[in-house]
This record gives sequence, C-alpha cells and structure tokens, in this order.
Amino acid sequence: MMTENERNLPDKNISLMRVDLHTHTNASDGNLLPGELIFQAEQAGVEMLAITDHDSVAAYSQLETKKNISVQLIKGIEISSRWKKMGVHIVGLNVDINNAGLKAAIKKQQKIRTTRAKLIADKLQSQGFENVLEGTYKIAGDAAIGRLHFAHYLIAIGAVKNYNAAFKKYLGDNKLGEAKNEWETMSQAIQWIDGSGGKAVLAHPAKYKLTHAKMEQLIADFAAAGGHAIEVVSGLQTQEISQRLAKLAEQYHLLASSGSDFHRPGQSWAALGAQSELPKTCRPVWEEWIQ
Ligand code: AMP
Ligand code: MN
Ligand code: MN
Ligand code: MN
Repeated sequence: MMTENERNLPDKNISLMRVDLHTHTNASDGNLLPGELIFQAEQAGVEMLAITDHDSVAAYSQLETKKNISVQLIKGIEISSRWKKMGVHIVGLNVDINNAGLKAAIKKQQKIRTTRAKLIADKLQSQGFENVLEGTYKIAGDAAIGRLHFAHYLIAIGAVKNYNAAFKKYLGDNKLGEAKNEWETMSQAIQWIDGSGGKAVLAHPAKYKLTHAKMEQLIADFAAAGGHAIEVVSGLQTQEISQRLAKLAEQYHLLASSGSDFHRPGQSWAALGAQSELPKTCRPVWEEWIQ
C-alpha cells in the first residue's frame, strides 16, 4: 500500500513503480498456475501485475478465493487480431472480466483457436507427424490452445530441439505448419476492450519486425481506432527500441505500458518485472487506475 506522502509525489515516481503488465499463465500458453505466477511476481518485487493470457481471462476465476495478495492485480487479456494481413496482439488492461461483450468475444476467439488448431494439426500430419491434435490437446489441457502447445508437442516427439526451432521450421509465418490468420480486426479487438471498460494496448510493437514507416502506420491506425497505449517497454528489448517507441507514443498521444511477456521461469529475456524503466517522456498507462 502507498502512503499518503507517496501518493502526492509527482508522476515520475509512478513511472518508477515496478510493474509487469503482460504475463501468461497456464490458462493460455504459460507454464505456471495463476497462484504460482503471483507468488513469483511477489518474490521478484513486482508491485503491480496484469495476467494477460491469450484470449482468456480464466486465470482470474482461479484467484477469486486467494487472499493476502500483496501485488496490485490488474485484470487483463491479450487478444489476437489482424491488421492488414498481419497478426497483431492487443493487450486489454483493467478490463471487466464479467462484461457480456468481452465474454462473447472470448468465446469467438476460442472458436477461432480450435478451428485453427485443426488446420495446424492437418498441416503437421501431412509432414509425416502422427497424433498431432490429440497429443497437443493433451499438453494444452483446458488452456486456450495455441502454437506454443504445438511447439511443445513437436519437442516432446523429438521432431525439433527447442521452441525456436519449432517456430522457425513449422509454426512461424509462412512455415510448413502455418494456418491462415482468421482473427478479427485490430479495430474490433480495441472495441471489445473499450466496451469492457479496459485500456487497449498495442503489445510488443518491435516483435512485428516492421520498417519504421510501417510501424508508424500501425501506430497511427491503432490510435485512430481508439487504442490507448503502446508497450513502449517489452521484455529486455534495447534502449534504442524503447526510445523509438516512446517518441511514437508521444507523437500519437498514446500512453505507455511495460511488460515482460513472461511465459515460464528460465526465459532469460522475460523474467517477471525485469524490464527497464519507461523513458522519461512517457506517461505510464497505470496512471489511469492508480489510487
Ligand atoms: P498463438 O497465440 O497461438 O498465435 O501463438 C503465439 C505465441 O507463440 C506467442 O505468444 C509466443 O508465446 C509463442 N511464440 C511465437 N514465436 C515464438 C518463438 N520464436 N519462440 C518461442 N515462442 C514463440
Ligand atoms: Mn504466448
Ligand atoms: Mn503476444
Ligand atoms: Mn504475450
């Protein structure tokens, strides 16, 4: 809890809070149970945490009875969407997980995921692998099924050595097991988040590997569609990238978010809350709900 004094300090100190507003649990493609994630975040000194599973808020129902959480928990989601022909991820922060529109959206997204899973499995079967769909569902359990589960399966059967190889050869864009991108538009994802009272954040912009001009176009379209913030800091990306994104945020009057995109312990580029501070020119998105 903050003291009255801390509350009155200038915004700059809010910027210095240790936050992690982009993390995954085993409700999607992360490895930890929601409770374990919170415990590890607390151990890492995170003060504000958002669980942002892919197209799922199921982690939060597992936490309803959990008491004595010292970290401030912000309800979130990471929605898969499409901008032009490209897949882009939109994080929703401080959403109402009981909002009817959001619930319907999640149902729709899960349907796209199961349809896509069948397509990916077919493609991998035609590469000579067996039992792909059943094997992958066994790994995914109740989670929102995704490509990382397929990667896990390919590793388990010895087809590839690691996740990177799985994506490079089979699961990445234009690779052998790729399924067409049938997601709803970015603008739709923003509306779903907005409609549930949340703030839409463009996730990990540097991961899309765009030219500067294309990146600017994406951010301009995101802002025009009602987007609220961009992930100026994502994982352990370089300062140069963060500075470039901070400038774009300023230019398009967007707030800034920060997240590790944590999936599992041991991912060195995504330890919980290990991101560097936001560049000084940024206005943190958590300013919107901090008391
Ligand atoms: P999906 O949401 O099913 O489209 O899968 C996207 C997820 O796959 C991302 O959130 C990452 O967790 C994972 N992913 C994508 N590319 C890679 C990669 N090269 N190495 C490891 N994981 C990856
Ligand atoms: Mn993921
Ligand atoms: Mn993502
Ligand atoms: Mn993510």
